Amino acid sequence: MDFLLNEDQQMIHDLAQQFAQDVLQPRIDEIEEGVDVQVKDGTMQKQLPQDIYQQMAECGFMGISFPEEYDGMGMGHLEQAIIIKELSRVSPSVGKALDVYILGLEALDLYANDEQKKKWLAPCCRGEQTVSFAFTEPDTGSDPKMLKTRLEKQADGTYKVNGVKRFISNAGYDGPCVLFGLLKDEESGKDLVTGFVVEKFCQGYSVSSPWEKIGYHGSHVWDIFLDDVIITDENILGKPGDGFTQLLGTTAYGKLGFTAVITGTALGTADIALNYCQEKLHRGKPITKFPTTQLRLSTMLTYAHTAELLLLEAADFCDKHHFEPDDIATMREVQAHTAQAKGYAAETATKVATMAVNAMGAYGVCDEYQAERFVRDAAIAPNIEGAGDIQYLIHGMYVGANGNTVFH
Ligand SMILES: Cc1cc2nc3c(=O)[nH]c(=O)nc-3n(C[C@H](O)[C@H](O)[C@H](O)COP(=O)(O)OP(=O)(O)OC[C@H]3O[C@@H](n4cnc5c(N)ncnc54)[C@H](O)[C@@H]3O)c2cc1C
Repeated sequence: MDFLLNEDQQMIHDLAQQFAQDVLQPRIDEIEEGVDVQVKDGTMQKQLPQDIYQQMAECGFMGISFPEEYDGMGMGHLEQAIIIKELSRVSPSVGKALDVYILGLEALDLYANDEQKKKWLAPCCRGEQTVSFAFTEPDTGSDPKMLKTRLEKQADGTYKVNGVKRFISNAGYDGPCVLFGLLKDEESGKDLVTGFVVEKFCQGYSVSSPWEKIGYHGSHVWDIFLDDVIITDENILGKPGDGFTQLLGTTAYGKLGFTAVITGTALGTADIALNYCQEKLHRGKPITKFPTTQLRLSTMLTYAHTAELLLLEAADFCDKHHFEPDDIATMREVQAHTAQAKGYAAETATKVATMAVNAMGAYGVCDEYQAERFVRDAAIAPNIEGAGDIQYLIHGMYVGANGNTVFH
Protein backbone atom coordinates (compact mmCIF):
# COMPACT_ATOMS: atom_id res chain seq x y z
CA MET A 1 0.00 0.00 0.00
CA ASP A 2 3.08 2.25 -0.01
CA PHE A 3 1.92 4.12 -3.12
CA LEU A 4 -1.22 5.28 -1.30
CA LEU A 5 0.17 6.40 2.04
CA ASN A 6 2.31 9.45 2.81
CA GLU A 7 5.20 9.24 5.27
CA ASP A 8 3.08 10.07 8.34
CA GLN A 9 0.40 7.57 7.37
CA GLN A 10 3.03 4.91 6.82
CA MET A 11 4.38 5.63 10.33
CA ILE A 12 0.87 5.23 11.76
CA HIS A 13 0.49 1.97 9.84
CA ASP A 14 3.79 0.71 11.27
CA LEU A 15 2.87 1.84 14.81
CA ALA A 16 -0.49 0.00 14.65
CA GLN A 17 1.17 -3.11 13.21
CA GLN A 18 3.80 -3.06 15.96
CA PHE A 19 1.11 -2.54 18.62
CA ALA A 20 -0.82 -5.53 17.27
CA GLN A 21 2.28 -7.74 17.31
CA ASP A 22 3.72 -6.59 20.66
CA VAL A 23 0.63 -5.88 22.76
CA LEU A 24 -2.24 -7.92 21.28
CA GLN A 25 -0.67 -11.09 19.84
CA PRO A 26 0.87 -12.30 23.14
CA ARG A 27 -2.44 -11.72 24.97
CA ILE A 28 -4.91 -13.19 22.46
CA ASP A 29 -6.23 -15.82 24.91
CA GLU A 30 -6.74 -13.24 27.66
CA ILE A 31 -8.50 -10.90 25.19
CA GLU A 32 -10.80 -13.68 23.94
CA GLU A 33 -11.60 -15.05 27.40
CA GLY A 34 -11.98 -11.62 29.03
CA VAL A 35 -11.03 -10.64 32.58
CA ASP A 36 -13.48 -10.43 35.50
CA VAL A 37 -14.39 -6.84 36.30
CA GLN A 38 -17.01 -5.55 38.73
CA VAL A 39 -19.18 -3.17 36.72
CA LYS A 40 -20.86 -0.18 38.32
CA ASP A 41 -24.16 -1.98 39.01
CA GLY A 42 -22.18 -4.38 41.24
CA THR A 43 -22.24 -7.46 38.96
CA MET A 44 -19.02 -9.25 37.94
CA GLN A 45 -18.66 -9.38 34.18
CA LYS A 46 -16.05 -10.49 31.66
CA GLN A 47 -14.43 -7.57 29.87
CA LEU A 48 -11.53 -6.69 27.62
CA PRO A 49 -8.51 -6.02 29.88
CA GLN A 50 -8.77 -2.29 30.70
CA ASP A 51 -5.06 -1.66 30.19
CA ILE A 52 -5.46 -2.49 26.49
CA TYR A 53 -7.84 0.47 26.17
CA GLN A 54 -5.36 2.60 28.12
CA GLN A 55 -2.45 1.60 25.91
CA MET A 56 -4.50 2.32 22.77
CA ALA A 57 -5.43 5.73 24.21
CA GLU A 58 -1.75 6.49 24.94
CA CYS A 59 -1.00 5.84 21.26
CA GLY A 60 -3.81 8.27 20.35
CA PHE A 61 -5.89 5.57 18.62
CA MET A 62 -9.24 6.53 20.20
CA GLY A 63 -9.16 10.17 19.22
CA ILE A 64 -7.18 9.73 16.00
CA SER A 65 -9.67 11.41 13.65
CA PHE A 66 -11.20 13.95 16.05
CA PRO A 67 -10.25 17.62 16.54
CA GLU A 68 -7.29 18.53 18.71
CA GLU A 69 -9.55 21.11 20.37
CA TYR A 70 -11.32 18.14 22.02
CA ASP A 71 -8.12 16.23 22.75
CA GLY A 72 -8.21 14.21 19.55
CA MET A 73 -5.21 13.79 17.24
CA GLY A 74 -6.69 15.94 14.45
CA MET A 75 -5.98 13.36 11.74
CA GLY A 76 -8.42 11.77 9.30
CA HIS A 77 -10.51 8.75 8.41
CA LEU A 78 -7.64 7.27 6.42
CA GLU A 79 -5.45 7.10 9.53
CA GLN A 80 -8.42 5.74 11.51
CA ALA A 81 -9.02 3.00 8.91
CA ILE A 82 -5.32 2.03 8.83
CA ILE A 83 -5.19 1.61 12.62
CA ILE A 84 -8.40 -0.43 12.93
CA LYS A 85 -7.40 -2.63 9.96
CA GLU A 86 -3.94 -3.41 11.35
CA LEU A 87 -5.23 -4.18 14.87
CA SER A 88 -7.97 -6.40 13.40
CA ARG A 89 -5.40 -8.30 11.37
CA VAL A 90 -4.24 -9.77 14.68
CA SER A 91 -7.30 -9.30 16.91
CA PRO A 92 -10.63 -8.57 15.19
CA SER A 93 -12.10 -8.38 18.73
CA VAL A 94 -9.94 -5.39 19.67
CA GLY A 95 -10.46 -3.83 16.23
CA LYS A 96 -14.22 -4.19 16.76
CA ALA A 97 -14.06 -2.65 20.25
CA LEU A 98 -12.17 0.34 18.83
CA ASP A 99 -14.51 0.63 15.82
CA VAL A 100 -17.67 0.97 17.95
CA TYR A 101 -15.88 3.38 20.27
CA ILE A 102 -15.07 5.58 17.28
CA LEU A 103 -18.68 5.22 16.02
CA GLY A 104 -19.95 6.82 19.24
CA LEU A 105 -17.37 9.60 18.97
CA GLU A 106 -18.32 10.18 15.33
CA ALA A 107 -21.91 10.94 16.48
CA LEU A 108 -20.67 13.39 19.11
CA ASP A 109 -18.21 15.05 16.72
CA LEU A 110 -20.88 15.54 14.05
CA TYR A 111 -23.92 16.45 16.13
CA ALA A 112 -22.98 17.55 19.69
CA ASN A 113 -22.65 21.23 20.57
CA ASP A 114 -19.45 22.69 22.02
CA GLU A 115 -20.50 22.11 25.66
CA GLN A 116 -21.49 18.52 24.95
CA LYS A 117 -18.22 17.91 23.11
CA LYS A 118 -16.20 19.24 26.05
CA LYS A 119 -18.19 17.07 28.43
CA TRP A 120 -18.29 13.79 26.47
CA LEU A 121 -16.09 13.84 23.36
CA ALA A 122 -12.89 15.10 25.00
CA PRO A 123 -12.65 12.55 27.88
CA CYS A 124 -13.37 9.72 25.43
CA CYS A 125 -10.66 10.95 23.03
CA ARG A 126 -8.30 10.84 26.03
CA GLY A 127 -9.47 7.27 26.78
CA GLU A 128 -10.74 8.21 30.26
CA GLN A 129 -14.31 7.16 29.50
CA THR A 130 -15.75 4.58 27.10
CA VAL A 131 -18.46 5.71 24.71
CA SER A 132 -21.29 3.53 23.32
CA PHE A 133 -23.65 4.00 20.40
CA ALA A 134 -27.11 2.47 20.88
CA PHE A 135 -29.60 2.18 18.05
CA THR A 136 -30.59 -1.52 17.90
CA GLU A 137 -33.62 -2.74 19.87
CA PRO A 138 -35.36 -6.12 20.21
CA ASP A 139 -37.79 -5.05 17.45
CA THR A 140 -35.39 -3.23 15.14
CA GLY A 141 -31.87 -3.52 13.82
CA SER A 142 -32.28 -1.76 10.50
CA ASP A 143 -35.44 0.35 10.61
CA PRO A 144 -35.66 3.60 12.69
CA LYS A 145 -39.45 3.63 12.29
CA MET A 146 -39.63 0.53 14.49
CA LEU A 147 -37.93 2.16 17.52
CA LYS A 148 -39.77 1.63 20.81
CA THR A 149 -37.53 3.63 23.17
CA ARG A 150 -39.52 6.68 24.24
CA LEU A 151 -38.67 10.10 25.60
CA GLU A 152 -41.58 11.74 27.43
CA LYS A 153 -41.48 15.47 28.10
CA GLN A 154 -42.27 16.20 31.77
CA ALA A 155 -44.04 19.24 33.22
CA ASP A 156 -40.69 20.50 34.62
CA GLY A 157 -39.08 20.44 31.12
CA THR A 158 -37.03 17.27 31.69
CA TYR A 159 -37.51 14.05 29.68
CA LYS A 160 -38.27 10.61 31.10
CA VAL A 161 -36.72 7.82 29.00
CA ASN A 162 -37.88 4.19 28.89
CA GLY A 163 -36.84 1.40 26.56
CA VAL A 164 -34.52 -1.50 25.82
CA LYS A 165 -31.46 -1.34 23.57
CA ARG A 166 -30.05 -4.63 22.26
CA PHE A 167 -26.49 -5.84 21.48
CA ILE A 168 -24.81 -2.59 22.58
CA SER A 169 -21.03 -2.73 22.49
CA ASN A 170 -19.16 -1.34 25.50
CA ALA A 171 -22.47 -0.78 27.37
CA GLY A 172 -20.93 -2.19 30.57
CA TYR A 173 -18.16 0.43 30.77
CA ASP A 174 -18.52 3.92 32.26
CA GLY A 175 -18.94 6.82 29.88
CA PRO A 176 -21.49 8.48 27.61
CA CYS A 177 -23.92 6.48 25.49
CA VAL A 178 -25.44 8.02 22.34
CA LEU A 179 -29.00 6.70 21.94
CA PHE A 180 -31.96 7.08 19.62
CA GLY A 181 -35.62 7.13 20.68
CA LEU A 182 -39.01 8.60 19.82
CA LEU A 183 -40.38 11.85 21.25
CA LYS A 184 -43.96 12.90 20.51
CA ASP A 185 -44.22 16.34 18.95
CA GLU A 186 -46.58 18.34 21.17
CA GLU A 187 -48.22 20.16 18.25
CA SER A 188 -48.51 17.55 15.49
CA GLY A 189 -48.61 14.45 17.70
CA LYS A 190 -46.01 12.87 15.37
CA ASP A 191 -43.19 10.68 16.70
CA LEU A 192 -39.84 12.40 16.20
CA VAL A 193 -36.69 10.25 16.04
CA THR A 194 -34.39 11.96 18.52
CA GLY A 195 -30.70 11.48 19.35
CA PHE A 196 -29.60 11.96 22.96
CA VAL A 197 -26.84 11.10 25.40
CA VAL A 198 -27.17 9.19 28.66
CA GLU A 199 -24.35 8.68 31.12
CA LYS A 200 -24.05 4.93 31.59
CA PHE A 201 -25.03 3.67 35.08
CA CYS A 202 -27.00 6.82 35.87
CA GLN A 203 -30.23 6.33 37.88
CA GLY A 204 -32.47 3.93 35.86
CA TYR A 205 -29.67 2.55 33.59
CA SER A 206 -28.80 -1.11 33.90
CA VAL A 207 -27.38 -3.84 31.67
CA SER A 208 -28.00 -7.55 31.04
CA SER A 209 -25.21 -10.12 31.17
CA PRO A 210 -23.07 -9.91 28.02
CA TRP A 211 -24.46 -11.91 25.07
CA GLU A 212 -22.64 -15.16 24.22
CA LYS A 213 -21.88 -14.99 20.49
CA ILE A 214 -19.97 -16.91 17.84
CA GLY A 215 -17.10 -14.44 17.50
CA TYR A 216 -15.57 -11.14 18.66
CA HIS A 217 -15.31 -12.73 22.08
CA GLY A 218 -13.15 -9.85 23.30
CA SER A 219 -15.68 -7.22 22.24
CA HIS A 220 -18.66 -7.50 24.56
CA VAL A 221 -22.29 -6.60 23.86
CA TRP A 222 -25.05 -6.08 26.38
CA ASP A 223 -28.72 -5.14 26.40
CA ILE A 224 -29.36 -1.79 28.06
CA PHE A 225 -32.48 -1.25 30.18
CA LEU A 226 -33.66 2.35 30.50
CA ASP A 227 -36.15 2.58 33.32
CA ASP A 228 -37.40 6.14 33.96
CA VAL A 229 -34.00 7.66 33.16
CA ILE A 230 -34.26 11.46 33.50
CA ILE A 231 -32.42 13.70 31.04
CA THR A 232 -32.57 17.41 30.21
CA ASP A 233 -32.27 19.54 27.05
CA GLU A 234 -28.50 19.40 27.61
CA ASN A 235 -28.56 15.69 26.73
CA ILE A 236 -30.40 16.15 23.41
CA LEU A 237 -28.25 16.10 20.26
CA GLY A 238 -29.32 18.86 17.88
CA LYS A 239 -33.08 19.13 18.18
CA PRO A 240 -35.93 16.61 18.48
CA GLY A 241 -36.58 15.05 15.07
CA ASP A 242 -32.94 15.25 13.93
CA GLY A 243 -32.29 11.65 14.99
CA PHE A 244 -32.85 9.94 11.65
CA THR A 245 -30.40 12.23 9.85
CA GLN A 246 -27.94 11.86 12.73
CA LEU A 247 -28.17 8.11 12.48
CA LEU A 248 -27.53 8.16 8.73
CA GLY A 249 -24.70 10.71 9.05
CA THR A 250 -22.94 8.88 11.87
CA THR A 251 -23.14 5.53 10.13
CA ALA A 252 -22.10 7.06 6.78
CA TYR A 253 -18.64 7.61 8.30
CA GLY A 254 -19.11 4.81 10.83
CA LYS A 255 -19.38 2.08 8.20
CA LEU A 256 -15.75 2.76 7.44
CA GLY A 257 -14.63 1.58 10.89
CA PHE A 258 -16.35 -1.77 10.59
CA THR A 259 -15.09 -2.11 7.00
CA ALA A 260 -11.60 -1.75 8.47
CA VAL A 261 -12.35 -4.48 11.05
CA ILE A 262 -13.55 -6.98 8.47
CA THR A 263 -10.85 -6.09 5.94
CA GLY A 264 -8.28 -6.69 8.70
CA THR A 265 -10.05 -9.96 9.49
CA ALA A 266 -9.75 -11.08 5.85
CA LEU A 267 -6.07 -10.05 5.65
CA GLY A 268 -5.30 -11.75 8.98
CA THR A 269 -7.01 -14.97 7.86
CA ALA A 270 -5.02 -14.96 4.61
CA ASP A 271 -1.77 -14.31 6.57
CA ILE A 272 -2.43 -17.35 8.77
CA ALA A 273 -3.33 -19.62 5.85
CA LEU A 274 -0.25 -18.56 3.85
CA ASN A 275 2.12 -19.13 6.80
CA TYR A 276 0.56 -22.51 7.49
CA CYS A 277 0.73 -23.67 3.87
CA GLN A 278 4.39 -22.63 3.61
CA GLU A 279 5.22 -24.72 6.69
CA LYS A 280 3.01 -27.79 6.25
CA LEU A 281 4.97 -30.50 4.43
CA HIS A 282 3.77 -33.19 2.08
CA ARG A 283 6.41 -35.76 1.07
CA GLY A 284 9.03 -33.31 2.36
CA LYS A 285 7.81 -30.25 0.43
CA PRO A 286 5.43 -27.46 1.51
CA ILE A 287 1.81 -27.92 0.39
CA THR A 288 2.19 -24.66 -1.57
CA LYS A 289 3.45 -26.99 -4.34
CA PHE A 290 -0.17 -28.03 -5.03
CA PRO A 291 -2.06 -26.01 -7.66
CA THR A 292 -5.18 -26.23 -5.45
CA THR A 293 -3.31 -24.49 -2.62
CA GLN A 294 -1.84 -21.89 -4.99
CA LEU A 295 -5.30 -21.15 -6.36
CA ARG A 296 -6.74 -20.71 -2.88
CA LEU A 297 -3.86 -18.51 -1.70
CA SER A 298 -4.06 -16.28 -4.73
CA THR A 299 -7.86 -15.98 -4.53
CA MET A 300 -7.75 -15.18 -0.78
CA LEU A 301 -5.08 -12.53 -1.18
CA THR A 302 -6.77 -10.98 -4.22
CA TYR A 303 -10.09 -10.65 -2.41
CA ALA A 304 -8.46 -9.31 0.77
CA HIS A 305 -6.31 -6.77 -1.08
CA THR A 306 -9.26 -5.60 -3.18
CA ALA A 307 -11.21 -5.03 0.03
CA GLU A 308 -8.21 -3.10 1.40
CA LEU A 309 -8.05 -0.88 -1.68
CA LEU A 310 -11.79 -0.14 -1.49
CA LEU A 311 -11.41 0.61 2.23
CA LEU A 312 -8.56 3.08 1.68
CA GLU A 313 -10.34 4.72 -1.25
CA ALA A 314 -13.52 5.13 0.80
CA ALA A 315 -11.49 6.52 3.74
CA ASP A 316 -9.77 9.02 1.46
CA PHE A 317 -13.18 10.00 0.05
CA CYS A 318 -14.50 10.60 3.59
CA ASP A 319 -11.57 12.92 4.31
CA LYS A 320 -12.10 14.89 1.11
CA HIS A 321 -15.87 15.16 1.61
CA HIS A 322 -16.46 16.28 5.17
CA PHE A 323 -20.14 17.11 5.56
CA GLU A 324 -21.91 19.50 7.91
CA PRO A 325 -25.07 18.20 9.69
CA ASP A 326 -27.44 19.77 7.13
CA ASP A 327 -25.47 18.71 4.01
CA ILE A 328 -27.54 15.63 3.14
CA ALA A 329 -26.26 15.40 -0.46
CA THR A 330 -22.60 14.94 0.56
CA MET A 331 -23.62 12.65 3.40
CA ARG A 332 -25.44 10.39 0.92
CA GLU A 333 -22.40 10.36 -1.37
CA VAL A 334 -20.09 9.40 1.50
CA GLN A 335 -22.59 6.74 2.58
CA ALA A 336 -22.61 5.22 -0.95
CA HIS A 337 -18.79 4.84 -0.84
CA THR A 338 -18.60 3.40 2.66
CA ALA A 339 -21.59 1.09 2.06
CA GLN A 340 -19.96 -0.31 -1.09
CA ALA A 341 -16.67 -0.91 0.75
CA LYS A 342 -18.49 -2.50 3.69
CA GLY A 343 -20.64 -4.76 1.52
CA TYR A 344 -17.57 -6.03 -0.34
CA ALA A 345 -15.43 -6.45 2.78
CA ALA A 346 -18.18 -8.43 4.56
CA GLU A 347 -18.53 -10.77 1.61
CA THR A 348 -14.74 -11.05 1.36
CA ALA A 349 -14.19 -11.86 5.04
CA THR A 350 -16.59 -14.81 4.90
CA LYS A 351 -15.23 -16.10 1.55
CA VAL A 352 -11.60 -15.86 2.71
CA ALA A 353 -12.49 -17.61 5.96
CA THR A 354 -13.97 -20.59 4.11
CA MET A 355 -11.00 -20.75 1.72
CA ALA A 356 -8.52 -20.60 4.61
CA VAL A 357 -10.16 -23.58 6.27
CA ASN A 358 -10.12 -25.49 2.97
CA ALA A 359 -6.45 -24.63 2.44
CA MET A 360 -5.50 -25.71 5.97
CA GLY A 361 -7.67 -28.83 6.19
CA ALA A 362 -8.42 -30.10 9.70
CA TYR A 363 -5.95 -27.64 11.26
CA GLY A 364 -8.07 -24.77 9.95
CA VAL A 365 -10.87 -25.65 12.35
CA CYS A 366 -8.69 -26.24 15.43
CA ASP A 367 -8.32 -23.23 17.72
CA GLU A 368 -4.58 -23.78 18.24
CA TYR A 369 -3.98 -22.75 14.63
CA GLN A 370 -5.73 -19.35 14.97
CA ALA A 371 -7.67 -19.46 11.66
CA GLU A 372 -10.67 -20.88 13.55
CA ARG A 373 -10.95 -17.64 15.60
CA PHE A 374 -10.91 -15.52 12.43
CA VAL A 375 -13.51 -17.78 10.81
CA ARG A 376 -15.86 -17.25 13.78
CA ASP A 377 -15.27 -13.48 13.70
CA ALA A 378 -15.82 -13.38 9.92
CA ALA A 379 -19.21 -15.09 10.34
CA ILE A 380 -20.46 -11.92 12.06
CA ALA A 381 -19.18 -9.59 9.32
CA PRO A 382 -22.32 -9.39 7.13
CA ASN A 383 -24.69 -9.15 10.07
CA ILE A 384 -23.90 -6.04 12.09
CA GLU A 385 -23.69 -2.27 11.80
CA GLY A 386 -26.23 -2.63 9.02
CA ALA A 387 -26.83 -5.99 7.33
CA GLY A 388 -24.40 -6.82 4.47
CA ASP A 389 -26.92 -7.05 1.63
CA ILE A 390 -28.47 -3.71 2.65
CA GLN A 391 -25.05 -2.10 1.99
CA TYR A 392 -25.21 -3.07 -1.67
CA LEU A 393 -28.81 -1.77 -1.78
CA ILE A 394 -27.65 1.61 -0.41
CA HIS A 395 -24.83 1.78 -2.96
CA GLY A 396 -27.03 0.51 -5.81
CA MET A 397 -29.81 2.98 -4.99
CA TYR A 398 -27.29 5.83 -5.00
CA VAL A 399 -25.64 4.98 -8.31
CA GLY A 400 -29.05 4.21 -9.82
CA ALA A 401 -30.20 7.73 -9.01
CA ASN A 402 -26.95 9.67 -9.48
CA GLY A 403 -24.80 7.65 -11.86
CA ASN A 404 -21.48 6.12 -10.92
CA THR A 405 -19.88 8.92 -8.95
CA VAL A 406 -17.72 6.43 -7.11
CA PHE A 407 -15.30 5.42 -9.86
CA HIS A 408 -15.60 7.43 -13.07
C1 LIG B 1 -21.05 -8.12 17.96
C2 LIG B 1 -22.18 -7.14 17.77
C3 LIG B 1 -21.99 -5.81 18.11
C4 LIG B 1 -23.04 -4.90 17.95
N1 LIG B 1 -22.88 -3.61 18.39
C5 LIG B 1 -23.93 -2.74 18.31
C6 LIG B 1 -23.81 -1.43 18.87
O1 LIG B 1 -22.79 -1.06 19.47
N2 LIG B 1 -24.87 -0.59 18.73
C7 LIG B 1 -26.02 -0.96 18.10
O2 LIG B 1 -26.95 -0.15 18.01
N3 LIG B 1 -26.18 -2.21 17.58
C8 LIG B 1 -25.16 -3.11 17.68
N4 LIG B 1 -25.30 -4.38 17.20
C9 LIG B 1 -26.53 -4.75 16.51
C10 LIG B 1 -26.38 -4.85 15.00
O3 LIG B 1 -25.82 -3.70 14.45
C11 LIG B 1 -27.75 -5.19 14.38
O4 LIG B 1 -28.13 -6.44 14.90
C12 LIG B 1 -27.65 -5.22 12.89
O5 LIG B 1 -27.55 -3.91 12.39
C13 LIG B 1 -28.78 -5.91 12.16
O6 LIG B 1 -29.99 -5.80 12.79
P1 LIG B 1 -30.92 -7.10 13.03
O7 LIG B 1 -30.05 -8.15 13.58
O8 LIG B 1 -32.10 -6.71 13.83
O9 LIG B 1 -31.33 -7.48 11.57
P2 LIG B 1 -32.63 -7.08 10.74
O10 LIG B 1 -32.77 -5.63 10.59
O11 LIG B 1 -33.80 -7.82 11.33
O12 LIG B 1 -32.25 -7.74 9.37
C14 LIG B 1 -32.19 -9.19 9.20
C15 LIG B 1 -32.12 -9.45 7.70
O13 LIG B 1 -33.32 -8.99 7.07
C16 LIG B 1 -33.03 -8.35 5.82
N5 LIG B 1 -33.53 -6.95 5.83
C17 LIG B 1 -33.86 -6.21 6.92
N6 LIG B 1 -34.29 -4.98 6.53
C18 LIG B 1 -34.22 -4.95 5.18
C19 LIG B 1 -34.51 -3.95 4.20
N7 LIG B 1 -34.97 -2.73 4.52
N8 LIG B 1 -34.29 -4.27 2.90
C20 LIG B 1 -33.82 -5.49 2.55
N9 LIG B 1 -33.52 -6.47 3.44
C21 LIG B 1 -33.73 -6.22 4.73
C22 LIG B 1 -31.52 -8.37 5.65
O14 LIG B 1 -31.18 -9.42 4.79
C23 LIG B 1 -30.98 -8.68 7.03
O15 LIG B 1 -29.79 -9.47 6.95
C24 LIG B 1 -24.29 -5.32 17.38
C25 LIG B 1 -24.47 -6.68 17.04
C26 LIG B 1 -23.44 -7.59 17.27
C27 LIG B 1 -23.69 -9.05 16.96
